Amino acid sequence: MKINDNFLKLRDNYLFVDVMNKGNAYQASHPEQRVLKLGVGDVTRPLPEAVIEAMHKAVTDLSHEESFRGYGLEQGYDFLRHAVVENDYKPLGVDLDIDEVFISDGAGSDIGNTSELFSPDNKVAVLDPVYPAYVDTNVIAGRAGEYTEQGWGNIVYLPCTAENGFVPELPQEHVDIIYLCFPNNPTGTALTRRQLQKWVDYALENNSIIIFDSAYEIFIEDPDVPHSIYELKGAKQVAIEIRSYSKTAGFTGVRCGYTVVPKQTGLQQMWYRRQCTKFNGASYISQRGAEAIYTKDGRAGIMSNIAYYKQNAAIIRQGLIDMGIETYGGINAPYIWLRTPHNMDSWAFFDKMLQECQVLCTPGVGFGKSGQGYVRLSSFGNHEDTAEAIERMKKLKL
Ligand SMILES: *Cc1c(COP(=O)(O)O)cnc(C)c1O
Repeated sequence: MKINDNFLKLRDNYLFVDVMNKGNAYQASHPEQRVLKLGVGDVTRPLPEAVIEAMHKAVTDLSHEESFRGYGLEQGYDFLRHAVVENDYKPLGVDLDIDEVFISDGAGSDIGNTSELFSPDNKVAVLDPVYPAYVDTNVIAGRAGEYTEQGWGNIVYLPCTAENGFVPELPQEHVDIIYLCFPNNPTGTALTRRQLQKWVDYALENNSIIIFDSAYEIFIEDPDVPHSIYELKGAKQVAIEIRSYSKTAGFTGVRCGYTVVPKQTGLQQMWYRRQCTKFNGASYISQRGAEAIYTKDGRAGIMSNIAYYKQNAAIIRQGLIDMGIETYGGINAPYIWLRTPHNMDSWAFFDKMLQECQVLCTPGVGFGKSGQGYVRLSSFGNHEDTAEAIERMKKLKL
């Protein structure tokens, strides 16, 4: 046999492993100190009671012959798809057919899987800095070209920096597949309706497709920031929207999300066919848990967790601003993106934070070239550690 040698092309991205290893090594050699982790992109608050009850009940359903469930529909149970259409889209003025909503086991799978819908010779555009999965899945699919110092030859990078306000400029050359993630991981910034409409218009004019990752939708506060790309004119023709309950409802371990493939994209039947062949559906228990977040109690429970993280984000933001550090994000997203003082290299600042105040961050350059000179802080920790981390950072010798 011959292997898919695109796997050999993959660049090792040990960003989070390197961060963890450096943190652990420091902790081991300084047992008297406590390293505080502001690098992690995983939730920490327990699931709301309503979600737990719904999942317990689902387990009970499985224990009786009358209510037992085997395989569900590949595209997800009607009860959940219906709840998505009614609660996530109807209030935005977006009408979706239940058949356009596909329940998944999380966004991670569909970020990679959706690329199967497209020919290998499409040109791909990604934001820079970028969530690594969009690039790596296209490398595996043989769509990235060759790697050089400049990055992947067949991938167009769209820089998002303080200089352009973290608003990517339209590409100079034609691109076919555009990955957008807003509110953004890692920069914590978001696009307004007007800014996003430009991308929809570009896709309409160029016959491109936008893969819109809105994993952080629930963090949006600004009324000018759209909650779905389908709020924008023409978007149903050119956009696939990927959502996840991971960050919105604390489901990183439970696993559930969904992908919207509108019929107007011409891809809905293809995606349905793909799911029937390769995906036999998300867990009944997870889907019942997800359904519960659309109840009054469930909603209150997840919003209280989001408020908790937002309080952390506010503490981090204000602390950094008080220190005179250039600070971005943290309002419509759980991430704070700071520019390192004196143009320090991302990893140099990471080391300084670890050595001088025992706080772990994530070096921006790990997300791409344009992330150099920035680091990411996460608001997913607990209040006490977050507040202490900021107090410690105030003693940094800048
Ligand atoms: C966390 C995250 C996801 C969610 O992934 P799941 O597989 O649903 O847990 C998707 N996109 C981005 C940008 C993320 O940060």
